Amino acid sequence: MKFNTKTIHGGQENDPAYGSVMPPIYQTSTYAQSTPGGHKGYEYSRTHNPTRNALEKAFASIENGNYGLAFGSGLAAIDAVLKLLSPGDEVVSTNDLYGGTYRLFTKIYKDFGIKFHFIGMDNVAHIESYINKNTKLIWVETPTNPMMNIIDIKATSQIAKEHNVLLAVDNTFATPYLQQPLDLGADIVMHSVTKYIGGHSDLVMGALVVKDKALADKLYFIQNASGAICGPQDAFLALRGIKTLHVRMQRHCENGRAVAEYLALHPKIDKVYWPGFENHPNHDIAKSQMKDFGGMVSFVTADSNYNAAIKIVEKLKVFTLAESLGGVESLAGHPASMTHASIPKEEREKTGIVDALIRLSVGIEDVEDLIDDLKQAIG
Ligand SMILES: *Cc1c(COP(=O)(O)O)cnc(C)c1O
Repeated sequence: MKFNTKTIHGGQENDPAYGSVMPPIYQTSTYAQSTPGGHKGYEYSRTHNPTRNALEKAFASIENGNYGLAFGSGLAAIDAVLKLLSPGDEVVSTNDLYGGTYRLFTKIYKDFGIKFHFIGMDNVAHIESYINKNTKLIWVETPTNPMMNIIDIKATSQIAKEHNVLLAVDNTFATPYLQQPLDLGADIVMHSVTKYIGGHSDLVMGALVVKDKALADKLYFIQNASGAICGPQDAFLALRGIKTLHVRMQRHCENGRAVAEYLALHPKIDKVYWPGFENHPNHDIAKSQMKDFGGMVSFVTADSNYNAAIKIVEKLKVFTLAESLGGVESLAGHPASMTHASIPKEEREKTGIVDALIRLSVGIEDVEDLIDDLKQAIG
């Protein structure tokens, strides 16, 4: 099955009870047994729920994996991966990382005895110098948030394999429509389903997908033991979102390109970060591992004053000033004061997250309206 067909049919069966085309929302905590242990595969909804299982199969299908797991948020999914580790283990991670992931690593797992190295990964050879006998996990986000750096997944996976280290890729920005990390050698794909996969800004959810059965079994154990699952209503909404992922992404990419090109020519804009530009430092890798360049665009105003950026985001009318990304509607954010406020200013600025940086999640509205809105806000 090809990708667009998989988004609609992958892992899905019509419901055996009445043939309903969409899986019903099994809003139940428990399941009747005829005799102790006499059940139909479902005992308790933390462990298994038919709506969630249908979604987990869809996740596995669209990411070309064998096993999918759904969690109550993207961070709950990351948390489950970190629980594979033990005190003394080390993680090599992208330095330009989603703020919440950085907070989970440094404010929770560091205290449990896990050591993190946050490094620039645009030069993959750099990763190897941080690997030692305690290294158990490489954590990659690509494109990175919000600087839109690109990391070579295939080359990183070769290093991970040589050193017997797991490679996990946060694929939230790209989605499986653009990039399929398991096919490039990653062991674990993670999603904030809240973003593009859900696609409608109406749920918070996370996902993991893996190929290997032993790894999947460990993660299912953690999912059930720690209990950070999603509910059946949200599972239903995410399934509905997946069915239009490919058409939404196609439009996000078209609009993202038009907005990036508009900003690049604007005299009041200093820099535009978008991997589709030929002069983007990792454009060639982006081109080789992604089908297109997505709908996320970051830019820096020529006036480096904090208030210059704030004024623009306040003036936007079609773009909504809000955290999050990946919905059908366009959003604008100011990373330094919003999504990345939990990263110390000094750390933040090292990776380019200056006060004048604005991040756009370009939606699927008419692109002329989006550009007109930017025009009036930037002036
Ligand atoms: C939002 C986000 C997360 C966290 O996901 P939640 O669903 O908000 O818990 C992780 N990584 C990236 C890249 C994100 O954008």
